[in-house]
Amino acid sequence: RGLVKTFPLSRNVLGRPVSRVRAVDGVDLDVTAGMTVGVVGESGSGKSTLGRLASLLERPDSGTVRLDGRDTAGLRGRELSAVRRSLQVVFQDPFGSLDPTKTIAHAVSEPLIVHRRIRRAGSTEAAEELLARVGLDAGLARRYPEQLSGGQRQRVSIARALALAPWLLIADEPTSALDLSTRSEILNLLLALQQETGLSILLVSHDFATVQHLAHRVAVMYLGRIVEEGPTLDVVREPLHPYTKALLSAVLVPDPRVQRNRSRIVLQGDAPNPADLPSGCRFRTRCPYAMPSCAEVDPQLQPVSTGHSVACLLHTGSGPPAGAPTSTSG
Ligand code: SF4
Ligand code: MG
Repeated sequence: RGLVKTFPLSRNVLGRPVSRVRAVDGVDLDVTAGMTVGVVGESGSGKSTLGRLASLLERPDSGTVRLDGRDTAGLRGRELSAVRRSLQVVFQDPFGSLDPTKTIAHAVSEPLIVHRRIRRAGSTEAAEELLARVGLDAGLARRYPEQLSGGQRQRVSIARALALAPWLLIADEPTSALDLSTRSEILNLLLALQQETGLSILLVSHDFATVQHLAHRVAVMYLGRIVEEGPTLDVVREPLHPYTKALLSAVLVPDPRVQRNRSRIVLQGDAPNPADLPSGCRFRTRCPYAMPSCAEVDPQLQPVSTGHSVACLLHTGSGPPAGAPTSTSG
């Protein structure tokens, strides 16, 4: 609730000193048990930082991360490590997170040895069991990361994340480094594991197609804010925010009914410098629908239908009255 995370930034593009950039700028997000929430946006949208806040790897400047209704801010020591164990992260590059000098059996059983005090000598069976859960042959246990394909390595890092039976898996671009066919295998594996264990997943991705494959709900982020949030099907069939429309324009959707209702928007230019945001709506420098009021009012996320919210003056009360002519429309 109300999550804000800033990072120091020494100078802006003009060489002037700037104190801090707000990577996450006031975000509310719920992840319900057994559900997948996708967070989608371009690089620099703050989605990875939001994932790190949810994993408690990073603490917010303000706002709260609650787990099972309980504020995690006051947790220290043993309590904090217990909660952290229930929040496991899978990253884009499984090679980077696996020690090249240790066997796969070692990588997968290490969390059990460290946290569950299972003895190394007796850990092979546990490792093989975990490998089987992610569809890998027990024979791989004696191999080293470099002997595995990218997809196999990502399965290993998922097995490792599952070792401690987490409540929430935070997957940050888990398939971006993989080829297309391996990508859907990994997403289907996550889906199967969720159905089997009731695991919640926070899926962070720049790719709407990936999020669509897995997520029950989707949150679209732009420059540190959620600009649209709702059930994935609603957002995909009827995107409301111009930025969401632009992201979806770039994705091929197999359902022709979806494509027909969709106006095509191609994003102009780059996102503005996050340390020097435009007044009003932060998307207005790239928005084809921008109106004069968009420079005045900073739109807040508001519900427009059940469970579907948007932060855009075209859809919320602060814009011009419905049907009123605007000089910049069209
Ligand atoms: Fe575009 Fe205005 Fe909506 Fe922002 S508030 S997305 S500038 S129409
Ligand atoms: Mg990222």
